Amino acid sequence: MKKILLLIMDGLGDRPNKSLGNKTALQAAEKPNLDYLALNGATGTMSPVSYGVRAGSDTSHLSILGYSPEKYYTGRGPFEALGLGIKLEPGDIAFRANFASVIDGKIVDRRAGRINGTDELSRSLETEIDGIKFIVRSGVEHRAAVVMRGNGLSDHIIDTDPHITGKSPLNTIATDHEGNFTAMLINKFLERSRKILNEHPFNKKRVEDGLLPGNEIMLRGAGKIPDLENFEEKYNLKAACISGTPLIRGIAGLAGFTILKVDGMTGRIDTDYKNIFKSALIALEKYDFVLINIKGTDIAGHDKKPELKKYVIEKVDQEIQPFIEKRDDVLIVVTGDHSTPCSYGDHTGDPVPVLFSTDGILYDKSSHFDELSVSEGYYKITSNDLMPLIMSYSDRAEKYGA
Ligand code: ZN
Ligand code: ZN
Repeated sequence: MKKILLLIMDGLGDRPNKSLGNKTALQAAEKPNLDYLALNGATGTMSPVSYGVRAGSDTSHLSILGYSPEKYYTGRGPFEALGLGIKLEPGDIAFRANFASVIDGKIVDRRAGRINGTDELSRSLETEIDGIKFIVRSGVEHRAAVVMRGNGLSDHIIDTDPHITGKSPLNTIATDHEGNFTAMLINKFLERSRKILNEHPFNKKRVEDGLLPGNEIMLRGAGKIPDLENFEEKYNLKAACISGTPLIRGIAGLAGFTILKVDGMTGRIDTDYKNIFKSALIALEKYDFVLINIKGTDIAGHDKKPELKKYVIEKVDQEIQPFIEKRDDVLIVVTGDHSTPCSYGDHTGDPVPVLFSTDGILYDKSSHFDELSVSEGYYKITSNDLMPLIMSYSDRAEKYGA
């Protein structure tokens, strides 16, 4: 049985870039180690979630780890909250939230003039009502997340965001009797929040400065925290996660991974690549399965910067070198969680390249790790197939039949 390194370069897949001579970032990158692994490995393309699906990092990581998003993806709310670093507990209800501006009882801007730095507004809203805790965290600009914690909560309620301006902000309503208690609490929370936000010095200062106040918090996408079967029990693999991205750490945490801290690691392009891979090498002594998520490739894709995407790939390539000689005991798997082509600036439904490399593997014809070369490889899979292949290549799969 072998140990497993699963390296996910976020948003790895790309399309041809004019500035790179019509090459994808992977094709243009100098990456001798990844190419060596492709040459000495089995490769192919992988469609995240399913063919043509423009997967988010959340649905795709769930699927990659063997948790069908159809069953476990409980809406944007819980995953937004995980992304903001809120530690969620079973039974919690989470919402996406945004600060909006209300003047004379009408919403004038759903984003409160793209308000920024709302941490103190969020903190001022945290409270406990009838034994239920309200946790509020700010995100980028007007975005935030709200989590309700306590007994007897339900997500059978409607959004309080009317999604257009010129209307009054809504209270919530239960969609059936199960949601009554939760709806009542939310409406109390909103009433209290409106008072606090209107009186808050941060908002008063904004109005003085001629800016729109963030005096309404609107809630949508209510969802329960999914109860993921423990990864360790599901696969009999002691698992650890190395990621600078709260969303990925949150998902791995829900699955029971040990979340490793790495000095200098960020969820940005400027992260300590050396330390990340060094930590993974050490972690493989103690854990059977180490997941690394590198976010820089996705950021470069969203920012439409092919040179930066190429740079991140080259950094990763340098640091993966020490794993090559560990292939006696370690199965190395490299892929992306979706494509974020620089020419498009967002996730697309294109497949991503995938490689499996370990000592003695039955290798295929592909000799480079990029979108085109791996099409000569063995596989055209969806992310649902990844864990079974990992189990098989690491000599851990159970025999099917006699
Ligand atoms: Zn992603
Ligand atoms: Zn992205």
